[in-house]
Amino acid sequence: MNKVEQSITYLRQAEQSFNQVVFACSFGAEDVVLLDLIRQHAPHIRIISLDTGRLPQETYDVMQTWRKEKGLDIDLYFPDANDVESMVKQDGVNLFYDSIEKRKQCCFVRKIKPLKRALEDAEAWVTGLRGEQAKTRATMQAVEDDAAFGIKKYNPLIDWSEQDVWDYIKSHELPYNALHDKFYPSIGCAPCTRAISVGEDPRAGRWWWEQEDAVAECGLHVNPIAGKAAKKGA
Ligand code: SF4
Repeated sequence: MNKVEQSITYLRQAEQSFNQVVFACSFGAEDVVLLDLIRQHAPHIRIISLDTGRLPQETYDVMQTWRKEKGLDIDLYFPDANDVESMVKQDGVNLFYDSIEKRKQCCFVRKIKPLKRALEDAEAWVTGLRGEQAKTRATMQAVEDDAAFGIKKYNPLIDWSEQDVWDYIKSHELPYNALHDKFYPSIGCAPCTRAISVGEDPRAGRWWWEQEDAVAECGLHVNPIAGKAAKKGA
């Protein structure tokens, strides 16, 4: 069984084993591969995306392309307006640059709380995580218990290399985020993502102003073995 077939097997297994399965799509390279596999092979998996209110225009563009050209039904989840209003009244719109704690607070309000809402009725969720993206992700399994959300977590691309992802995208002519062509391997919110240089870690463009030992994750993906998210540069 090749990697594509293996990933399809995981997606079908998830779809057939649980009443509601949610794919949380951020429209990065891995996620557009999953969009394509889900729409063809596991169409009952519900596709959601978190609109933090701070996404790059390129992310909205590719989101709209998948909706219009591929006919995908994508449920967007937004942060609670009261949470955002009180947060920016207290600390300003760019609070994430002030401290790691404030960055985590912003991620909690704009990402984690909406994701919790999106997963409220889900029995399993799907992510585009790959093992080689970070050391702690290397210990993740294709199917595991998600300690943070108390449901099953499927990582169907866990064994894929970056080359596998791009081979699939190119051979299937999939729409992808234009920022990938501008040296953005990992794309999140606009103010917290930058291009990387040759030789830099692929995650180096995320929250780059923080200390080297800071956690370079927003808290969506907690390693069930290590019990914590990946460390920056790890
Ligand atoms: S990535 Fe940045 S802007 Fe987005 S939620 Fe986290 S801290 Fe806020």
